[in-house]
Amino acid sequence: MSDHPPVLRVDAATGLLSGVRQVLSPHCDARPPQTSPELLVVHGISLPPGEFGGPEIDQLFTGTLPWEAHPYFKSIEGLRASAHVVIRRDGALTQYVPFGARAWHAGVSQYGTRSACNDFSIGIELEGADEVPYTEAQYAALVQLLAALIGAYPSLSSEHLVGHSDIAPARKTDPGPAFDWPRLRAQLRARLGASP
Ligand SMILES: [Zn+2]
Repeated sequence: MSDHPPVLRVDAATGLLSGVRQVLSPHCDARPPQTSPELLVVHGISLPPGEFGGPEIDQLFTGTLPWEAHPYFKSIEGLRASAHVVIRRDGALTQYVPFGARAWHAGVSQYGTRSACNDFSIGIELEGADEVPYTEAQYAALVQLLAALIGAYPSLSSEHLVGHSDIAPARKTDPGPAFDWPRLRAQLRARLGASP
């Protein structure tokens, strides 16, 4: 099924992907005035760490994670976080925040001379862990998503594509050494080159 992933489309008016599961998060707000998305940030997330497939990412991003249910959840109690999109292990996408809005994914961060990367970035979470290979379906879905975003927003490009660890190196390690950047870049180059 990952051989022919569906073509994704961004509705520029709403900032939503068409045909994609939506679970809208309250953990977002407006970007600063005159600020367009200029940076693409790839993350890895699993809740609890190393466990895949449960409802906990939806719960965290919608403010309904049961903090008492796991010691790790207790350790992040009260965290109000989100991302624009999550890509599950099977390549399925869920959108939590419209792309025109500011999702709360990067935290204290710096890209070149600019800080507060949430202001001007799009955050994409892959369900995963730093040391666990990401799946074929995830790379395929990520490439489709990045291509759709780059096509929809002229302010984005494949040149400004980083991991969370690149913009918050003292605090964050995701998406981790398991994430294959050369593979992503090669697949994205091929996908963008194939676009009319
Ligand atoms: Zn992250």
